[in-house]
Amino acid sequence: MRAEVVKMSADHMDMEAIEKAGRILKEGGLVAFPTETVYGLGGNALDPQASMKIYAAKGRPSDNPLIVHIAEMDRLADIAEQIPEKARLLAEHFWPGPLTMILPKKDAVPGETTGGLDSVAVRFPSDKIAQELIKAAGGFVAAPSANTSGRPSPTKAEHVEEDLGDAIDMIIDGGQVGIGLESTIVDFTEEVPVVLRPGYISLEMLQEILGEVRMDKGLLITDSNVRPKAPGMKYRHYAPKADLTIVEGEEAAVLREINRFAAEAKELGMQVGIIATDETAGKYPAGIVKSIGSREDEDSIGHHLFEVLREFDHCNVCAIYSEAFYTPRIGQAIMNRLLKAAGHKIISVS
Ligand code: AMP
Ligand code: MG
Repeated sequence: MRAEVVKMSADHMDMEAIEKAGRILKEGGLVAFPTETVYGLGGNALDPQASMKIYAAKGRPSDNPLIVHIAEMDRLADIAEQIPEKARLLAEHFWPGPLTMILPKKDAVPGETTGGLDSVAVRFPSDKIAQELIKAAGGFVAAPSANTSGRPSPTKAEHVEEDLGDAIDMIIDGGQVGIGLESTIVDFTEEVPVVLRPGYISLEMLQEILGEVRMDKGLLITDSNVRPKAPGMKYRHYAPKADLTIVEGEEAAVLREINRFAAEAKELGMQVGIIATDETAGKYPAGIVKSIGSREDEDSIGHHLFEVLREFDHCNVCAIYSEAFYTPRIGQAIMNRLLKAAGHKIISVS
């Protein structure tokens, strides 16, 4: 089976196709769709069989729970046993948007969807196509990123086709997504809210509204004895096919080091891939150089990160070197993904 691909835009929605996609989901099938963060692989969140199909299509371990997407605020109470005041406050500020909240689950949500946990991850996306699809599907759509497990998350429908075109029923192509990084995940099952995955909504933005918010220790420490609380964060993820190394430090030192690696590879008749920025792309004489965006516009870096990683899979490179992107607001989210893609290989130069 090859997935049917339907193109549309948020301004010109094909409601007939959305109704059809909704029916596929209600009947237990799988539909990939755009959201403002990345493309999601949707299945009916209340149907255990549909969740099992999602794990199988992605090759995802079934202890790695799925995020349930809703499109109406008042549906939250149907799946969350309890909604703390602080969670309500965050929802008021950031929903619909790139925020996922972990709350105690109601029995209506099957253990298959939550990887056997008593809690459920919920998000109300702002993408209009996603919202219409969720409503057409009955209100609750489980949707992890629509990539094969371990690969970079998809930011275009072509990426979904590449990974899952033969494994799912339909792909809604809504063009390139806006943000390009997955949602910020905040856990409300403990006294103090905890960020389990950094995203477009930064720790500072959360603290401004909630006061005390912690980062999960498993995110900050690379010690393998410290387990991240979100089961998915322990897995190697986002990896391009060639080995990726991050080089961090002053710009001049980073350029020197990466250029040295590029020259060494050239001597041996090979080519490295280089992830640069608009500001530095012209300063690498050898290798295949791709600009990820501008340091003057950190959103452009988040927007292109997964796309650039995927592009290198189509280039003949022996290794990839990337600059580091500790940008002010979403640097934490960008570096979290990049470090995972690099298997935490990072060189500091001065
Ligand atoms: P993805 O579906 O690819 O966006 O990844 C979802 C992330 O949310 C994974 O890292 C999951 O482990 C995490 N997650 C989902 N549900 C829960 C939950 N109930 N408790 C903790 N983490 C969760
Ligand atoms: Mg994912």
